[in-house]
Amino acid sequence: MKMGRFVVDGHVHSQRHAAGPELKKRLADKSAGRKKLKYSELVQVMPQIEAYDNSERLLYDMNCYGVDMCILMASYGMTNEQNLALVEKYPDRFAALCIPTGGYSVEKYGKEEWTMEAACNELDRLLSTGKFCGIGEGFPCDPKVFYRKKRISRTDRIDELMQVMEVARKHEVPVHYHTGFAMGYHLGIPEALEPLWAHELASNFPDVPIIFDHGGMACWWWEHLVDQCLHVAASHDNVYLETGLYWTDLYYKPLLDPNIGAEKLLWGTDWGASIPVYSQPGHKPPTYAMQLIKEGLVTHQVDLFGWSLRQMRRLDITQDDLNLILGGNAARLYKLKFPLTRMFKAVE
Ligand SMILES: [Zn+2]
Repeated sequence: MKMGRFVVDGHVHSQRHAAGPELKKRLADKSAGRKKLKYSELVQVMPQIEAYDNSERLLYDMNCYGVDMCILMASYGMTNEQNLALVEKYPDRFAALCIPTGGYSVEKYGKEEWTMEAACNELDRLLSTGKFCGIGEGFPCDPKVFYRKKRISRTDRIDELMQVMEVARKHEVPVHYHTGFAMGYHLGIPEALEPLWAHELASNFPDVPIIFDHGGMACWWWEHLVDQCLHVAASHDNVYLETGLYWTDLYYKPLLDPNIGAEKLLWGTDWGASIPVYSQPGHKPPTYAMQLIKEGLVTHQVDLFGWSLRQMRRLDITQDDLNLILGGNAARLYKLKFPLTRMFKAVE
């Protein structure tokens, strides 16, 4: 049975990095005979690789698990154009966020100075087309900072994030605030381990919805960042949590918190990212998402829809609350088309 009336995955990558050939070249040069590809090697070649269209596998999984729609996100090496092409081909199945990719292009990387001002101009231009429904994944970031060639202070970074908030306010779209990383590589997004910085953004821009990518649970067996995200979400009406990588028990705290509740949770899995699920039967949690450094890069398409929907199926909550988390909140925040009115619980 389908899990809800309208099932929307709010965090999907329909493009996948074509890292294999570049990594294999390195492997051949450096260590003949080694078969496993390391995450640390992937991060070294990331600025040089592009992404290919992986939508055939995505559509297969959407049909398999009853996922009606996906919110597509570009990330490093991925393009807004590829996402938009998919939205235009399947308008009922996809909507897309945008991120300024100009400064991250393979040819430009390391040659041109990156500024948040230029990134925001690009964002403004993209959003002016009316073809994108939000900003993400995460906030734009100087590639030098991202790849740890340069540092930025908390104050300077928050000032940069404020510029993006202005663009979001102008176009009345939500922004995504990325949290955590997947263990295999640690990208230098300064705010990723600092969800509490979002207090500053949320109070200065109460009219702009902020969605925490991963809701503090990008990976690993901890709740540290989840708690910080909950603290921000409980304090501001405009802050939301994406929960697709939560194991079942993690849903209860936000659901029980009278200042959060189902109306602030959005299902979003990061489908398409190279994030495997680790299993430790008999322990709590029995499974959780994490890149396994010793095993090297995961090469198959991890079944995140199946895993994540199973975590939610165990929740003994009302179907109306489940419908909000699975798609009703996404429909409201991203202004997605739904054929009928009054099918989701009203939210102020
Ligand atoms: Zn992602």
